[in-house]
Amino acid sequence: DALISQIAAGEVIERPASVLRELIDNALDAGARQLTLRLQAGGVRLIVVEDDGSGIARDELALALKRHATSKVRDLAELETVATMGFRGEALAAIDSIAELSLCSRSAEAPEAHGWLLHGRTGELQPAARSVGTTVEVRELFYATPARRKFLKSDATELAHCVEAVRRHALARPDVGFAIWHEGKLIEQWRAHNAHQAPQSGAQQPSTYQPDATQPIAIEPVVAPLPGNTEALAPRMAAVLGEDFLAHSLPFDWRGGGLRVWGRAGLAQVARARADQQYSYVNGRFVRDKVIGHAVRSAYEDVLHGQRQPVYVLLLELDPARVDVNVHPSKIEVRFRDGRAVHQAVRQALEQVLAAPRA
Ligand code: ADP
Ligand code: MG
Repeated sequence: DALISQIAAGEVIERPASVLRELIDNALDAGARQLTLRLQAGGVRLIVVEDDGSGIARDELALALKRHATSKVRDLAELETVATMGFRGEALAAIDSIAELSLCSRSAEAPEAHGWLLHGRTGELQPAARSVGTTVEVRELFYATPARRKFLKSDATELAHCVEAVRRHALARPDVGFAIWHEGKLIEQWRAHNAHQAPQSGAQQPSTYQPDATQPIAIEPVVAPLPGNTEALAPRMAAVLGEDFLAHSLPFDWRGGGLRVWGRAGLAQVARARADQQYSYVNGRFVRDKVIGHAVRSAYEDVLHGQRQPVYVLLLELDPARVDVNVHPSKIEVRFRDGRAVHQAVRQALEQVLAAPRA
């Protein structure tokens, strides 16, 4: 099983940023509102993710590290409609097989935390003091596979990938605070903006959301998906992408055919700091998707002729039954049941906002 986990790890874990992404997914799935991330040597030597989520009960800690142990999907049919970030029960087991993992958690009911505090979980669970939530510590990534470790780039490059991984999460979740520390220095801090969007408790989808599908959604998302509107996203976008982006971009919010396409589209004046400031999300999950990418590019080419590398943040929401997120272990790719409808919706949303007259 350790070997299988290592193989699984090979598909999912390429570099420290992949570990970070999985750990942040877990924290968000647990309803965390504040994440503290601590890194050393670009994450190669150390990654710590500390959250204030629901925590893990003492007698479930061991299970959390088991392959295919997930608290998020009850049977295979549910895999079809998963709305949480993680759902395969593989990440922790995979990370555990290629690095030194320690885990410490306190659930709401528990008077204290428990965990394996020093690496090497041979010992008994130990009590620890902490507030409700979970801390996962990952040391010496790929220590046992020097060949893999050799493929890692410089610490600075790995750190940049880590920060980018956090950025991807942070842009879609302005209601969650993120702090990134590297070598003991606070390098990024994005505060939670709770005041503006107050995610409706109990309402798991935005109230305007009208899925077409006749099939009921089989699984309740653990996380209320997204803060409702473009205004709520704006301060976070400014913090993460810069005031320049906010000043030279327009909000859009398009609905039709059970799809919602919203976010902010950068205009030609946005000074391009990096080569890949294109952020697309499907039901809150960051994706790289050809259908969305192509639709956006065509809209930009049609309306703002020649702007081929636009900067944008685009959130697509649709009935989870209309999208397969189980295509790739890293979950960065999705497959739409109806790619044409998605393409048309995205293109229309962008064309509308880009063509709108403005001062
Ligand atoms: P998955 O996310 O696919 O369920 P993981 O291996 O990432 O699988 O995590 C295994 C299980 O451990 C999760 O289903 C969850 O129950 C628990 N878990 C992991 N991280 C956290 C966390 N930060 N807070 C609460 N529970 C967690
Ligand atoms: Mg997970």
